[in-house]
Amino acid sequence: MCSESILCEVCEEKPAVGRCRICGRYVCDEHLNKEGVCVVCVDLMCRICNTRLSVTSCVVCGKPVCRTCSIELEPGIRVCKYCINDLSALKELGLLPKLTENI
Ligand SMILES: [Zn+2]
Ligand SMILES: [Zn+2]
Ligand SMILES: [Zn+2]
Ligand SMILES: [Zn+2]
Repeated sequence: MCSESILCEVCEEKPAVGRCRICGRYVCDEHLNKEGVCVVCVDLMCRICNTRLSVTSCVVCGKPVCRTCSIELEPGIRVCKYCINDLSALKELGLLPKLTENI
């Protein structure tokens, strides 16, 4: 059974060429990017650093962000390090007082 080629775990059609370095899935060339990350993990990746998995999305811009690239204003409310400087957006969302509390 070792001689059988492993199928891509994403499409289950093409033979896998490698494993995703994040989730360890076997994936075909089509579903593995240059960084060795599968399409499933790319979707979950932090859009700022692109190296860590996101934990949540920024409440202002909606981008998936990791712990390192975002600031927690209150439990479950995270703002990315770019939007944290967008005071007018934070004000609109009523988060500005939270920010000053956290500083
Ligand atoms: Zn595939
Ligand atoms: Zn993956
Ligand atoms: Zn990040
Ligand atoms: Zn943001």
